[in-house]
Amino acid sequence: RTAYVNGRYCDLRDACVNVEDRGYQFADGVYEVCEVRGARLVDFPRHMVRLQRSLRELQIDEPMPITALAIIMREVVRRNRVTYGIVYLQVTRGVARRDHAFPPSSVKPSVVVTARALDYEKKQQTAATGIKVITLAENRWPRVDIKSVSLLPNVLAKQEAREKGAYEAWYVDSDGFVTEGASSNAWIVTKDGRAVTRSVDRGILAGITRAVLVEVMGALQIRLEERPFTPAEAREAAEAFVTSASQIVMPVVAIDGRVVGNGQPGGITRQLREEFHRFSAFS
Ligand code: PMP
Repeated sequence: RTAYVNGRYCDLRDACVNVEDRGYQFADGVYEVCEVRGARLVDFPRHMVRLQRSLRELQIDEPMPITALAIIMREVVRRNRVTYGIVYLQVTRGVARRDHAFPPSSVKPSVVVTARALDYEKKQQTAATGIKVITLAENRWPRVDIKSVSLLPNVLAKQEAREKGAYEAWYVDSDGFVTEGASSNAWIVTKDGRAVTRSVDRGILAGITRAVLVEVMGALQIRLEERPFTPAEAREAAEAFVTSASQIVMPVVAIDGRVVGNGQPGGITRQLREEFHRFSAFS
């Protein structure tokens, strides 16, 4: 497998960054994950708009033009022969003597790109049965709108989910409402067929899959309510699912050990998963 690291393509096993990279020492960096389908990048322009915003919010310089990043990401996908899978892009503030405040502007950001094939059939099987989620108290910083590599709370949440036989963890804020998953956005479908997900103005990452799905719903005339919901409402909902670039629309069939609906992926959820890529941009 091949990675791209700061101007070079190299074997993944030899792909290294400096121990004084600020990504390593401070988690001072941002990332993007794009789905790869038919060896093409899904919704790449939207991911790049979000990347630029994350960089701007953290005052990290754009490492290169987006057109150059596109070439590198496609090349890593090609060299790894990924037809279905993900491509990962990470930009950190760069390498400098350890000091919390920003380094001099002469320090250039570090760029890493990796790609990985995923098992399409296995993913489809997971989607056919659905996943379980647990809920836990929101414990992340308030700037979760930035796609930062500082993911320690998310790591711990996912581990707790795994230990409880679940795949994803939904955070619940101090008002008792679900914010989002540790690596996905959270959705329910009410008994009268309305999709509900929290609005992007507070407490969540503006998911690209979420944004595209909102458009899909418009086209399919599925009613959408952007508002918070509680774990109790979710447990009583007809359907639930999560969205992310790597899962697209993934049915949720249990929340904290209690089944959602009849314990099977819901019909609207399935329809959304099937229709999703008709509305994607491929590059
Ligand atoms: N929220 C969080 C915390 C995430 O990590 C992700 C996945 N990157 C998402 C939401 C979903 O975002 P996207 O659809 O852009 O993958």
